[in-house]
Amino acid sequence: MARYTGADCRLCRREGGKLFLKGDRCYSEKCAFERRPYAPGDAGKKRTKDSEYRMQLREKQKTKRIYGLLEKQFHSYYELANRQSGITGENLLRILESRLDNVVYRLGFSKSRDEARQQVRHGHITVNGRRVTIPSFRVRPGDLVAVAPKAKELLVIKSSLVSNERTEVPGWLEVDIEKLQGSVLQLPNRDQIDLDIREQLIVELYSK
Ligand code: SF4
Repeated sequence: MARYTGADCRLCRREGGKLFLKGDRCYSEKCAFERRPYAPGDAGKKRTKDSEYRMQLREKQKTKRIYGLLEKQFHSYYELANRQSGITGENLLRILESRLDNVVYRLGFSKSRDEARQQVRHGHITVNGRRVTIPSFRVRPGDLVAVAPKAKELLVIKSSLVSNERTEVPGWLEVDIEKLQGSVLQLPNRDQIDLDIREQLIVELYSK
């Protein structure tokens, strides 16, 4: 399956909720979902019957889109979560949250996960002092994630920091804005992931 290249806002409208894919715009009155909170297309305003399968599918699609993943990668995370001990749905979210692009976003170094992905790919981010260019790199407790020295003056990161002043860094991370770095204190518990996701539905879908 090819990567989705259409308008991000269509995805929010398709999933029936804000996925916060476009940084500042998502918090402004320009948000497309605020203005047109129904699915795109001619049939968008029609009520669709929520079958069990449909709800499970939509929850999976929504989660995949929030983290900007393709089906194959998302499914492999589910497989990994299923092999771990504990609750599979929570394991899945913990794995997704521990991706480096997500951590960069959560630390406030980017306005969106998409932008964070670009920053990582362009070599602007280090982990424990070493440059990491793989957005799917998974951080571990004790890791130090930082903006690379040469990237510190980059406008995009500076403007992200300004716009993210309102954003609270989750309790499993600790940020030092002066040094443009953050520590991973632990991997998150479910209650530290502030996303409206019913992960059990995803597990049910993949368990069929
Ligand atoms: Fe979704 Fe609104 Fe952000 Fe567009 S602006 S990505 S509709 S939350």
